Amino acid sequence: MAGRLEGKVAVITGGVSGIGLGTVELFVAEGAQVVAADIQDEKGKMLEQRFPGRVRYAHCDVTAEVEIAAAVQLAKSEFGGLDILFNNAGISDAMRSIPEIEAETWTWIYNVLVRGPALGMKHAVPLMLERGGGAIVNTASIAGLQAGWGPIAYSSAKAAVIHMSRVAAAQLSPQNIRVNAICPGLIATSIFGASLGMPREGADQLAALVAAHAAKVQPVPKAGMPDDIAQAALYLASDASAFVTGTHLVVDGGITVGSRHAWDVSAPNPFAEMFGDSFAPPTAQGQ
Ligand code: NAP
Repeated sequence: MAGRLEGKVAVITGGVSGIGLGTVELFVAEGAQVVAADIQDEKGKMLEQRFPGRVRYAHCDVTAEVEIAAAVQLAKSEFGGLDILFNNAGISDAMRSIPEIEAETWTWIYNVLVRGPALGMKHAVPLMLERGGGAIVNTASIAGLQAGWGPIAYSSAKAAVIHMSRVAAAQLSPQNIRVNAICPGLIATSIFGASLGMPREGADQLAALVAAHAAKVQPVPKAGMPDDIAQAALYLASDASAFVTGTHLVVDGGITVGSRHAWDVSAPNPFAEMFGDSFAPPTAQGQ
């Protein structure tokens, strides 16, 4: 059976780690050729060696327009054109109070998370037009939908990514380019440790810890993994979502569905506390 991305060419930023790496692996398995754009050169070179002829690594700091332009051009010079852009590179900072956050931190976070994807689109669109259209997928976050899932600069930048995706979708739909966002929940990657300034080994351990904890506190009792987001990116990048644009797909094991008592009978239920058992949630067995 033909892969769902047979004949397609993709650029994936943040492509050598976590969600980006999982997406490179899945897209290649589905027949795509991929430019993995990132700032971790050693891992990038190893990725190229794993997938000869299918993956090219581009050193690309998404805060540098010239490097984004070069990564996108590599898709054309190496693989003949561009059909898919996954704007996924990301960083975060620690949770701090508003007066503590330096102006430079706001600039850095917005440069990577908002300006980076904006410039990615700027350079990808002309190449997509040469192919008659394309699909852009931007990684946002549940932190862009609700307070409490990340630091303020990160969260507000991710909200901007969601809205930028909508506006871009409206602007680009006449040119047959779809734009959508993904809002991951808690996914086991090194971003948590990295945002606390931990060395990589410690960051990987923290990733496992976060995932294991999330599995206990979200409705779907399994840790969110990079492949869970890669599958969403595959859907939004492929022709299966030909009628979908300007939306954001929440992939979070249900962690944002509502108050915990809605799915966990052992959690405190403010209504039951006020009004008694008639407000306790029904169980699956109806007991
Ligand atoms: P990750 O494993 O740390 O991967 C992110 C990659 O982007 C890393 O290789 C990182 O390199 C790279 N990067 C950082 N700054 C960059 C820059 N200026 N230019 C190019 N690449 C850069 O983290 P991840 O969790 O997979 O993150 C992927 C995306 O998902 C991010 O946009 C993140 O905000 C989003 N997200 C993640 C979660 C989660 O729970 N993991 C939840 C919601 C949204 P370094 O390691 O050297 O920084």
